[in-house]
This record gives sequence, C-alpha cells and structure tokens, in this order.
Amino acid sequence: MTKLSRRSWITVLCSALFTPTKAQNREQQEPTIPLLELKDFHPTSMLHVPSTRVERARFPAIDFHTHLTTVMGRPMPSSAVPVEGTDGPRASFSSKPEDVLALLDRKNVRCAVNLTGGYGPALDEVIRSWQTPFPGRVMVFTEPWWTRVAERGYAQFQADEIGRASSIGARGLKVMKTLGLYLRENVYTGPLIKVSDPRFDLMWEAAGVHRMPVAIHVSDPEANFQRIDRFNERYLDMIVRPEWSFYGKDFPTDRELQEDRNRIVARHPGTNFVALHMGNVENLGYTTECLDKYPNLYVEFGARVDELGRQPRTARRFFDKFQDRVLFGTDAIMDTADALAGKEALYETYFRFLETEDDYFEPKPNARWRIYGIGLSDAILRKVYHENAERLLHLRA
Ligand SMILES: [Zn+2]
Repeated sequence: MTKLSRRSWITVLCSALFTPTKAQNREQQEPTIPLLELKDFHPTSMLHVPSTRVERARFPAIDFHTHLTTVMGRPMPSSAVPVEGTDGPRASFSSKPEDVLALLDRKNVRCAVNLTGGYGPALDEVIRSWQTPFPGRVMVFTEPWWTRVAERGYAQFQADEIGRASSIGARGLKVMKTLGLYLRENVYTGPLIKVSDPRFDLMWEAAGVHRMPVAIHVSDPEANFQRIDRFNERYLDMIVRPEWSFYGKDFPTDRELQEDRNRIVARHPGTNFVALHMGNVENLGYTTECLDKYPNLYVEFGARVDELGRQPRTARRFFDKFQDRVLFGTDAIMDTADALAGKEALYETYFRFLETEDDYFEPKPNARWRIYGIGLSDAILRKVYHENAERLLHLRA
C-alpha cells in the first residue's frame, strides 16, 4: 500500500466514524434495546432440529422417587412443615389417589414409590390410604423417627420401628438430607449428627433383614456448597432460595457427605442402598468409583435430568455401564392437587431424555439450561424403567 492510498483509507474511515449514517439515524428514532435482568433472560433457540414428544414411557415404568404424602413434624428447617405436635407425627396430603393414578396411567407409569410415608401413626395412615387400596400401584417407604434421636435407647427403638413398618407393609426406608445437614444432637440444636453415626447401625441392619432397600439422599448440587457469587452456576436458584445454600457455617462439604454415606454402605453389605439424585451427579466419575466399590449401591436420578442431560455422552456411557443398577425416578411431588399441575410435562421430559436423541431442549420444570436426549436401547430402557426396581423391591419371583 502506498502512502497516498493509506491516507485515502484513513479519510474513508474517519468519515465512517464521524458522519452519521442512515442506520445510525434510524437507531436514534427507534426505542433502545431494553436492559434485562439476568433472571428475565430466556432466549428462544433458533435451532431447527427434531423435537419429539414422548407422551408415554415406552415400557411400563416404576417411578422409584415420588412424594404423595408428607409428615407434619419432620425436622427440616428449610421446609414449611411445623414442628411435631403433642399427638405425634401425622400424615399430610390433599391430592386424591384416583387423580394421581389417572395421571400415572396416562404416562404409562404403573407404580409410584411414595418415599415419604413417614413413621409412627403417620405411616399407618399413609399405607391405609395409599397402598392397601391400590395393590401394586403405590408402594410406601417409611422414614426414621428423627424427633426421638436424642432419647435414650433410640438405636434399638428405631430398629424395632423398621420391623414394625415392614410388618404393616412398608417396602423400604427413605432417608432425606435431614441426616447430615439438619439433624443435630438435640434434634434442632447442638452439633450436626453424622450420616455414619453408629447409633443408626441397627436401623441399617434391620432394613437389610427385612429386605427393605434404603433410599438415601445426602448432599445436594455441588454449587449449593459454594459461595453464592457471580461464579456460582446456581446463582439464580440461590438468590430465590438462600436456605438451599450449605456454604460455610458448620456444614460438611459435599464430598464429606458422600464419603460418609459410603461408610454405611460398606458397613452393611446385606442392605441395599439407593443413592437418590445419582449421588454426585456432576461427577459421574466419582459416582462410578462408588458403584464399582460397593455392589449393594444403586442410583436413581429424580430431579437431576437437567444435570444428566447437559452431559449426554458421559451420561449414556454411565447408563450403559450400570444398566443393572440405575432406577427411573422423578422426585415428583404430588401431595396436593396443585402440585399435580405440570407433572405431565415433567414425565415427558424424562421420557424424552431417556428415549430420544433430541438436541438442546428445555427440561420441565428445571429450565436453568437445555439438555440432550441419550436415546437408550430398548433392553436398557426396560431395565431402567422397571426391571431393576422390580428386583430391588422383590416384585419378581
Ligand atoms: Zn425427593
């Protein structure tokens, strides 16, 4: 380029920069682009890719993780559940079993495991209302009687309660993240009680003796244990629900909770444990190590379809490797009539994730990011949808 022509270029550039163009004039007349708050950003995908609606599960499903009832008095400060009254724990639910079963029929879910069946008289009530009248359709799990944890003789009392629960028909034991994150030496106060505390050993053993699988939820998404700042991928959840944060204070880390769960799985090889929410779903490598190590450990993926669906290749390899130990579950809360709304879409998200290879679609109800289907084979789908759960729940001869 000669000196002269370079000067001409600078002239052209300058006039482009300082002379208002037609476009600039137009912009001045039109309204400016509004600034959005982060929470309001919800872009529409411009991808033209297959979008498959899967209304019914391809094979009759057992939803291993539902909540059809809850218990008044559960010690979990983050929930609205009031403290147990003097008349002991009571069951709480307002949805009608017929409405729930009609929904399950439409989705080809032949059985729902109601994990939160409670304990004491509440459990009797739940079994009477939900399990007995609908054989094979609803299976009820019991829960530990945490409010008695500080009482003398609790260990044996709790083990006996497992036997009693089994005798009235409970099919398994559910342990919420109450253990490890909320339950303290004086129930609500004092130091946190560890998941591996030896006072529960008799309970874990009793579950094995009565052939009741233990569905256990420890920990939460990894981000819930991190500082809530601009680097936290669940920032938008945490500003709405700050009580979901387990950062700081006296909380154990996510990994400490998982390791503590592993200790009880190791100590009780005659008891089958199901790590709910996939154990550590962001780290399927770690979950793989756990499953490789403990043959009595299974996993379930309720409320984690968004996490699995953003790592479709890793997830598919995981389902392939552990096809005999992954259980279908949704964590669908259906204990009130209002809660039933939206559950059709929730089930369809799970089916679409498992059965199709659709790209980049929005999961319902967790829409923090988009997900991809993993297109499992029929053989694996059968296992995940029902065969694995049938084996764990002793439904097959
Ligand atoms: Zn749940």
